[in-house]
Amino acid sequence: MSGMLDGKTAVITGGASGIGRQIGRRYAEEGANLVVADLQNEPREGGTPLVEEAESMGVSATYVECDVTNTAQLQAAVDAADEFGGVDVMVNNAGIFRGKEFTAVEESEFDQMMDVNVKGVFFGAQAAAKKLLEDGREGSIINMSSVAGLTGSAQYTTYCASKGAVRLLSYSLASELGPEGIRVNAIHPGLIETEMTTEDVPIIGTEGGDQYKQSIPLGRWGEPADVADGALFLASDLSSYVNGESLVIDGGMTYA
Ligand code: NAD
Repeated sequence: MSGMLDGKTAVITGGASGIGRQIGRRYAEEGANLVVADLQNEPREGGTPLVEEAESMGVSATYVECDVTNTAQLQAAVDAADEFGGVDVMVNNAGIFRGKEFTAVEESEFDQMMDVNVKGVFFGAQAAAKKLLEDGREGSIINMSSVAGLTGSAQYTTYCASKGAVRLLSYSLASELGPEGIRVNAIHPGLIETEMTTEDVPIIGTEGGDQYKQSIPLGRWGEPADVADGALFLASDLSSYVNGESLVIDGGMTYA
């Protein structure tokens, strides 16, 4: 059976865990080869590393140790896709989530948030774009924003500022790279059950979280698979006329 991404290669930052890992699984199911670019190979949530899972599905995959705040390591991750024919899809997914009262935020915390969530996406997109332009090929760049990049939120000022920057960066790149056949879109997940929302900033699984969940029109938290299906759409030819879009995957919590 032919897959929607047969013969394509995707580089996924933060691909070892959570949403990125599920995007990788979904892409592999549809025939894509993978470069998993992450600080670690082991999934934060436990289980089999994505590279092994993907290989068992019959595609090629490799892990590249990559801190997205390091532009040389990002470039190396994109270059690793050459082994499989070159990058076609770049998913700038790696990110961190922290909450703190605005007046207590320290400069180092602000810098860390911007380094990972904004600089990492900016130079990840740049590395992929340079490669695609050099090779004269079309491609799809997908940047992971958040519903926090659409609306403000008390206690999450650095995160919201970083994800808002990803949104406008994506629109700008859609304009600049569109004429070259490189589509750039952003995804805005709502609250998705991963280590990020159960461990780093515990929302899911808490009493306050359960109350909040009732305000989500679809009445449940998101799963990484919900986001992965959107990322598949944006990577595939199904979205060949979609460029500069903000795909909100949040069960209706933002606009309903
Ligand atoms: P996660 O913590 O489960 O996974 C994140 C992965 O990114 C991990 O494997 C981690 O090692 C990696 N990573 C972190 N810093 C990195 C760095 N400097 N360089 C390379 N890799 C790095 O998180 P998740 O929930 O899967 O989140 C993925 C993306 O989705 C993030 O950008 C996050 O902001 C965004 N997002 C998540 C949610 C949610 O509710 N979980 C909602 C909206 C947006």
